[in-house]
Amino acid sequence: MIDLRSDTVTRPSEAMRQAMAHAEVGDDVYGDDPTVNALQELAAKLTGKEAALFMPTGTQANLVALLTHCQRGEEYIVGQKAHNYMYEAGGAAVLGSIQPQPLDMDADGSIPLDKVAAAIKPDDIHFARTRLLSLENTHSGKVLPLDYLQKAFEFTREKGLALHIDGARIMNASVALKVPLIEITQYCDTLTICLSKGLGTPVGSVLCGSREYITRANRWRKMTGGGWRQAGILAAAGIYALENNVERLQEDHDNAVWLEQQLRAIGVEIAAPGAQTNILYIKQSAELAAKLGPWMRERGVILSAGPLTRLITHIDISRADLQKVVSLWQDFLQHHAK
Ligand SMILES: *Cc1c(COP(=O)(O)O)cnc(C)c1O
Repeated sequence: MIDLRSDTVTRPSEAMRQAMAHAEVGDDVYGDDPTVNALQELAAKLTGKEAALFMPTGTQANLVALLTHCQRGEEYIVGQKAHNYMYEAGGAAVLGSIQPQPLDMDADGSIPLDKVAAAIKPDDIHFARTRLLSLENTHSGKVLPLDYLQKAFEFTREKGLALHIDGARIMNASVALKVPLIEITQYCDTLTICLSKGLGTPVGSVLCGSREYITRANRWRKMTGGGWRQAGILAAAGIYALENNVERLQEDHDNAVWLEQQLRAIGVEIAAPGAQTNILYIKQSAELAAKLGPWMRERGVILSAGPLTRLITHIDISRADLQKVVSLWQDFLQHHAK
């Protein structure tokens, strides 16, 4: 099957499985797993932070990040469509009594800083205390401009806020901008990175920050059930991914650009044209969408077809796969479009 629903569907390669099978392990709750420790050191080094903490999911890593930044009755400012506001089941509010202050995002995923400034609460008993600005990079496949990030970081210094980046796909941003990761991460206090999306591991995210911050985060990780044991088997996949699967993300980006051109050429409407990374959105009528999904699935292609359909390229999708998708799509339109 050619699965374009998400880059979370990627499977570990044979070489990655070999690395996992041979990982040296220990009890990570005691800090004894050498492979987990090595992954955390590698993530810290790549992001220019003092320390890192390995967790099963991006959702848990973002939750632990928010719990570590904000206390009960405090708030974080976040994009209206950000993953750690919209798609994490309200965890920070439910489990941390942390209030989100969502704001509209621009098309590139940024939150205008004048709107952030206006949303910061004064020190007054009526208000939650504003602690944190949380950004997402990439958002819907769009890369946050570096000069925006620099301004946002300086802004948070002036306002006494911390800055967190949900960098589930930050490696895609680094590859798209052709800059080392550290040039992006210098503009945040903390960030999360998903290893289980385009990087191709079965499981895992890392939270990076100062040593003092990560020490506190480790308690929240334990409290939320994330104190795991011989996790080195999973960390080995993460190390393999960071060492072998980052540069190749360029292929996924090139494939998204190619797919965009080809689909446009056969009359498919592209939403937010100009794929920057591995995500592409197309628009179609609800009637057509209802037929497209099953039609494609019968022919070996899986899509989350809707009026707005997200297509994601990744390590398990080749150019030849996409050629097949385009020609199927063309057939589909010939049979179904009026
Ligand atoms: C996927 C994703 C997450 C969460 O990752 P899970 O590992 O699925 O919990 C967080 N933020 C963004 C932007 C994501 O795309």
